[in-house]
Amino acid sequence: MRAGLDALLRGRVIARVEVLRPMLRFRIAKELPSVLEGARVVAVERRAKYLLVRTDKRTLLSHLGMTGTWQHVTSDHVAQKHDHLRLDTDDGTTLVYNDPRKFGFVELLPADSPAPRLAALGPEPLDPSAFNADYLVRVFRKRKAPVKSLLMDQAIVVGVGNIYAAEALFRAGIHPKRAATTVKRERLVRLVACVRDVLNEAIAAGGSTIDDYRKTNGQSGYFQHTFAVYAREGEPCLGCGTTLKLARIGGRSSVYCGKCQR
Ligand SMILES: [Zn+2]
Repeated sequence: MRAGLDALLRGRVIARVEVLRPMLRFRIAKELPSVLEGARVVAVERRAKYLLVRTDKRTLLSHLGMTGTWQHVTSDHVAQKHDHLRLDTDDGTTLVYNDPRKFGFVELLPADSPAPRLAALGPEPLDPSAFNADYLVRVFRKRKAPVKSLLMDQAIVVGVGNIYAAEALFRAGIHPKRAATTVKRERLVRLVACVRDVLNEAIAAGGSTIDDYRKTNGQSGYFQHTFAVYAREGEPCLGCGTTLKLARIGGRSSVYCGKCQR
């Protein structure tokens, strides 16, 4: 989605900003349109699950929550029920932030102080210098919590959501409930590689791509991806044929193979 937004917005001037429905996880600030109108987009970046639209004025931070999408629509787009924010650029591009469940939000980063939301985040999983087996050995030390919970802890590593944690643990052959501290170093080497592989494959497959409502019905690439364990409870393991099991770990549903994952 970052790549999609960057291709549409980089170098463009935000000509018009319209708040359609201000209520999201946090109310959209009244000043947002006046701050962003006339700003030129420098780049669209991502940190953890935050999209950061850097402009020559302020930075717009966007979190998609559960159901948020940025939709590329035609300029004659009629506001839909769950449209919250509309951006029009100087080249006639129109983007709408739509969010039926309203767990997402958009806000401006402070102009002159570090963003509190970005301060306590762990390393990016695709950064080998920061996220590697040595690092996991260090942070998993004495941690008895399930390895899956720690893998999804944004203070340990960012951006590994429920789907990708489940998939990476399956590939690495690690039981999601295993106490993190008991996973041996060589298995953490494998886990790091598997996390990176599933994320890179998801990105290549379109991840959760920007929804192009000009051409399609807006169905994202996300669930067109096939998963080995995610949402496959009761189905046979692709590795050994054993029926996959479902557990609740840290309040999240987790499907795993009791035979392949130890
Ligand atoms: Zn299996």
